[in-house]
Amino acid sequence: MDIKVTLTDNPKQKFTDEGTLGFGRIFTDHMFTMEYEEGKGWFNPQITPYHNFTLDPATVVFHYGQEIFEGLKAYKDENGAVRLFRADKNFARLNSSCDRLCMARINEEDALMALEKLLEIEKDWIPTSLGTSLYIRPFMFGTDVRLGVSASTKYTFAIILSPSGPYYNNGLIPVSIYVEDEYVRAAPGGTGSAKAGGNYAASILAGQKAKEKGYSQVLWLDATRQYVEEVGAMNIFFVIDGKLVTPKLNGSILPGITRDSVITLAKDLGIPVEEKQIAISEIEEAHSKGILNECFGTGTAAVISPVGELFYKGKKMIINDNKMGDKAQLLYNKLTDIQYKGLGDKFGWSKTLNI
Ligand SMILES: *Cc1c(COP(=O)(O)O)cnc(C)c1O
Repeated sequence: MDIKVTLTDNPKQKFTDEGTLGFGRIFTDHMFTMEYEEGKGWFNPQITPYHNFTLDPATVVFHYGQEIFEGLKAYKDENGAVRLFRADKNFARLNSSCDRLCMARINEEDALMALEKLLEIEKDWIPTSLGTSLYIRPFMFGTDVRLGVSASTKYTFAIILSPSGPYYNNGLIPVSIYVEDEYVRAAPGGTGSAKAGGNYAASILAGQKAKEKGYSQVLWLDATRQYVEEVGAMNIFFVIDGKLVTPKLNGSILPGITRDSVITLAKDLGIPVEEKQIAISEIEEAHSKGILNECFGTGTAAVISPVGELFYKGKKMIINDNKMGDKAQLLYNKLTDIQYKGLGDKFGWSKTLNI
């Protein structure tokens, strides 16, 4: 793939304080885009100055939501080495999301190459202090201009970059989570396992309701309101009587790359792991017996986020005295050592870029 590069002659003022970056609020000087047309394939791969899209009001994405995305990070260590973590998995997952939403698959190697080229240009935007990273947002949307409902024949794929601080301002302080028993995120046969913007649109109402009640996020149950699914932008893990358990992938849960990494790391560390259907009643029972040792969420943005409280049907379950548990801490340390320093990477997950 031959990428046309046009550099900005008006670079933005870079951040001066990495501590105030927040998440996803500022963007770098350049972006990658390419376009697709049925019969022609992907064309016009470009790195250009960061710019607005100009779209006809009748563009399909505005009306029928044919949009998917990915989220990954580039990490820079104190020696200036830049690393990606399992980026191939993100582009493979983008293609499975494409399949579910009838969108045009990309060439995964080309997309990775385009990302590396963009990172080479933007490497000075990657923060270095602990917990910070350059958040990478690849996304794709349908660009046909018409109101008829069918798969778009044209698409735009883009990658934008956002220097980000730690996802949670207060670090690894446990979060309180509302177990949602009214609204449902995904159902069997739906789009729950695709990383589609529409899934998020459908989840906002429950998120607002939880926030009004003082909870930072929602734990979704399945369509029968009996089984635990995930936290919306994170997969969920429990430590019950020393064993790590997480809902098995059932088609309505997003197959998280952090989830897969945590399972692999835990097994390697000799921690027993089980992927299974988990009833919320089982969590209540484990809590009342005093064997619900830990609970935490996993996702690229937050890495590992301990859960200190679950609120379900009017009842508070406080977990591990509202403190981060040993297993969560151990897995967090192992994972971030690989991501930030390539340390202890037995699995070939971390790739140091030659930039
Ligand atoms: C992205 C995402 C996750 C986490 O996936 P990672 O690959 O670990 O970042 C979990 N759930 C949902 C709904 C997501 O969109």
